[in-house]
Amino acid sequence: MQHGPLRNAYLDALGIDRWVARDAPAEVLTEPAVARRDAPVIPPPQARAPLAPPPAPPLEPGIDWGPLRERVAGCTACDLCRTRTQTVFGVGNTRADWLIIGEAPGAEEDRQGEPFVGRAGQLLNAMLLAIGLPRESVFIANILKCRPPGNRDPNPEEVARCLPYLQAQVALLKPKIMLAVGRIAAQNLLATDAPLARLRGKLHHFGAADTPLVITYHPAYLLRTPADKRKAWEDLKFARAHWQRIVGTT
Ligand code: SF4
Repeated sequence: MQHGPLRNAYLDALGIDRWVARDAPAEVLTEPAVARRDAPVIPPPQARAPLAPPPAPPLEPGIDWGPLRERVAGCTACDLCRTRTQTVFGVGNTRADWLIIGEAPGAEEDRQGEPFVGRAGQLLNAMLLAIGLPRESVFIANILKCRPPGNRDPNPEEVARCLPYLQAQVALLKPKIMLAVGRIAAQNLLATDAPLARLRGKLHHFGAADTPLVITYHPAYLLRTPADKRKAWEDLKFARAHWQRIVGTT
């Protein structure tokens, strides 16, 4: 270090002892003593947490379906972009009365780029058809547009970063009613940690437009627990009754 003698002169002027190890030059060993007094402790680089991706830029108000789909396809606002095969934007009729919302894509959805495919998707289709709604007549989306590895639950930061896309979909679709399937979707839409059993059987509301929202079981859960299909049927009839009241068909 070229400025060692000058630094030593400052230390001498301030009355700070200089520690000198045997066989080492004085200017090298005085620097840690200064650092201990004045500098914050900075962990070594390998101990720091990996940087989170920056949040996505805000969506333009009134963004249309095409640009919104492009924004989602290129989104890197959370770490799930590193492990996804592709984003799963949502599918269906963009003039639908019904918006069906699940939690996040699974392995098959990640492969195909479409929500609710596979056995759970077939059961969802059957549930909807039972209340007179073919799959093509509704819009289906998830809270998260990318698959969490190993189908783990979404974490709060992922939800916070992805929710603006769903809010934009709701703003474009203007659904008459929303049906959330499963605990994770319900809790995130309602910002609650209440159990699913307490959220079923009531009419909730979502977002700026206060869209009516009904909660039921996830079809994947119903495949594992067929005894609860009867309760899901009650939920579907409850939702249909509210929709019929809204559109004046009763
Ligand atoms: S989950 Fe949502 S926020 Fe995260 S990268 Fe995918 S689209 Fe972006």
